[in-house]
Amino acid sequence: MRPFRRTTLLAVAVLTAAGLLALPSAAVAGPTRSPDAPTEAFARQVTRGPALPLAGRVIVLDPGHQLGNHNFPSEINRLVPAGGFKKACNTTGTATDGGYPESTLNWRVAKLAQRRLEKAGAQVLLTRAADRQDLWGPCINTRGRIGNKVPADLKISIHGDGNYGGGPGFHVIAPTDRKPWTHDIYAPSKALALAVRHSLHKGAGLPYAGYIAGGDGLDFRSDLGTLNLSNVPTVMVELGNMKDSADVDRMTSARGRRAYAAALARAAVKYLS
Ligand code: ZN
Repeated sequence: MRPFRRTTLLAVAVLTAAGLLALPSAAVAGPTRSPDAPTEAFARQVTRGPALPLAGRVIVLDPGHQLGNHNFPSEINRLVPAGGFKKACNTTGTATDGGYPESTLNWRVAKLAQRRLEKAGAQVLLTRAADRQDLWGPCINTRGRIGNKVPADLKISIHGDGNYGGGPGFHVIAPTDRKPWTHDIYAPSKALALAVRHSLHKGAGLPYAGYIAGGDGLDFRSDLGTLNLSNVPTVMVELGNMKDSADVDRMTSARGRRAYAAALARAAVKYLS
């Protein structure tokens, strides 16, 4: 705006000096406004700070499973659409040998990540509202589609794996390119997977799971309804191995869970910026 205004004033000055234009001084200064005009009162109330990195963004976090799933076998074994085929509504998830449930790990990391993302300006939608023995679900088709309507900017499904003898480490699962299900999201989902992998590996210093083919912390799957039914970029992250003692120590400590959550939040910021 400033250059335009300067030019306009300059043009008025030149024309006036040349005697080609004579304006009353009030017209040059512009019309006066009442000091209590509504716009001025509003302007006084507006506070401006640095823009938050995720302002205006919507992020879905999907804490995998539900603590009570094992109490509702008929509900969670019911077949639901999973992207061109049917699959059980949900599963119980795994646990450490000491009895720390995957559902609870997923829930606590999701809540910590939610807080960080909201502080960065995002609106965060969780696929479940609690981690309780008297609840089950939601089913994978609900988890898969939940971000589509908004639409969300991305969705991260949070899990822990269980692999005896597999050693420590995480891996990130992205959808394959499968028309019509994931053709629209497989490329941005891969970019999101790379951001999550970088954040967990380089940022948090976590190793890649050695028991996943390739050993590079990435996996591509076509059999997961949670990924197949999403129309927004999405990944599933297996934060670590709940049957490995080093990963169990991390997962069962508040500090370890904070590190997972911080890495996921940083990945979201990086992917969206
Ligand atoms: Zn899981």
